[in-house]
Amino acid sequence: MKIERLLENPVVRRAPKAAEWIVARLQRIPAARRRIDAAFDEMLAPLRRELRPYDGEIPTHRTLPDAGRPKDEVLSHLDRMAEREKDRWFGGRVSGAVYHGGEAHAAFMSEVYRRFGQTNPLHPDVWPSLSKFEAEIVAMTADMLGAEAARAADPAADVCGTVTSGGTESILLAMKAYRDRARARGLRRVEIVVPETAHAAFDKAGAYFGIRVVKVPVGPDFRADPAAMARAITPRTVAMVGSAPSFPHGVIDPIEELSEIARANGIGFHTDACLGGFVLAFADAAGIDVPPFDFRLPGVTSMSIDTHKYGYAPKGTSVVLYRDRDLRHHQYFVATDWPGGLYFSPTLAGSRPGAPIAQCWATMLHMGREGYRDAARRILETGRRIREGIEAMDGLRVLGDPLWVIAFTSDEVDIYRVLERMTRRGWSLNGLHRPPCVHIAVTLRHVEPGVADAFLADLSACVEEVRREPPGDESLAPIYGMAATVPTRGLVAEILRRYVDLLYEP
Ligand SMILES: *Cc1c(COP(=O)(O)O)cnc(C)c1O
Repeated sequence: MKIERLLENPVVRRAPKAAEWIVARLQRIPAARRRIDAAFDEMLAPLRRELRPYDGEIPTHRTLPDAGRPKDEVLSHLDRMAEREKDRWFGGRVSGAVYHGGEAHAAFMSEVYRRFGQTNPLHPDVWPSLSKFEAEIVAMTADMLGAEAARAADPAADVCGTVTSGGTESILLAMKAYRDRARARGLRRVEIVVPETAHAAFDKAGAYFGIRVVKVPVGPDFRADPAAMARAITPRTVAMVGSAPSFPHGVIDPIEELSEIARANGIGFHTDACLGGFVLAFADAAGIDVPPFDFRLPGVTSMSIDTHKYGYAPKGTSVVLYRDRDLRHHQYFVATDWPGGLYFSPTLAGSRPGAPIAQCWATMLHMGREGYRDAARRILETGRRIREGIEAMDGLRVLGDPLWVIAFTSDEVDIYRVLERMTRRGWSLNGLHRPPCVHIAVTLRHVEPGVADAFLADLSACVEEVRREPPGDESLAPIYGMAATVPTRGLVAEILRRYVDLLYEP
């Protein structure tokens, strides 16, 4: 079940603001509220069953066990779940999610964890190793993304950054740095201009830090529209954003043009290379000429790039980079009058796990330029095969001009029904909306022999099955029908919140 589908309900799509307001009011009347609650519960019941497949098989713990359970028992439960879940992703049936996943690499990472599992970079006096790792991760990443060229062109450029816990944190911190630099200059209310395809982490930054996020529609090729972005700049704009590539459609925004517009307006420009930085930087290995998207462009003032995606480190690290040290200072937090001592923290968390940092460093050293080049070549070649396969398929259409994150839709069949049939065949793809489409992010799991062919064969079969299905048959997706009982976008947000509640129900 893909929850995105709820938004395509025609009633939800057309619901005017007034309807939303009325329903919000209705929710305050107890009787109406009870009916609405019941509708939610009914709607979410199938999701609850999917979320807890181990019910009845592995004990549920709502209280601490009195006597600690033996290690063997705990490990056997972990094994049962991990093995079953590995069956889902190891063979290459999941879009994104596990970017490397090779057994030898996983074993290497466990070795690193064994040595650094107890460490915390909050204490550089105890673990100077972690500070060395972070400094080198940042330096190697900056070097990969044009730091040298930036310095050669402008001696004031000094690309620097920090390691964070993930792409979202990198983006949150960069946006906070722009906000705080503007505040230091006396600007209180600030805005950022982003293409509507920019990652939701920018909305999160807006929500957390009180930054207004101005969303600009993309062009028909799903790339940011420079002229429209330029028109959205106001005296309150502190930064503009572009993706290389974007998460939904895997296309690269016109970073050069956008960053020049930002520079001409005296504002920052953030390239979000969370998803693709480590592939694009080595795309020449596949004979692909990628236009510049990094600090080689004088207008690019910050970047985010995820070591825990195509950097192939386990989850828990990303890098945020700045063109100069002044901007990085606006990221830091320092407290000088806390009785707990002089306190500083470069990122959002206080205590942080050192192990992912050590694993990231170890991964980068072990991969080396050749390792990344080889991985990029294989991913880009597989991406091209999948893209061409979809383009050749009757009834499907690829969106934009993607490389290895490929979004597709259909003008003939309901793409979400295709998605559901793929899910039933064991594929875990991403359902997207506005417009409705599905994407697959090709990883090292998909470059193994036979995976791309199996994907294309299943996809083609699913399209044909949906084509033969009687129209209006909602048997596949009872939840979509139910969505009609909660007809506004505000209520879709409520469904999402209740879905998150479910995740936390034992
Ligand atoms: C994944 C991604 C992010 C967010 O990264 P997380 O590691 O999930 O927090 C941001 N931008 C893009 C383009 C991404 O693909």
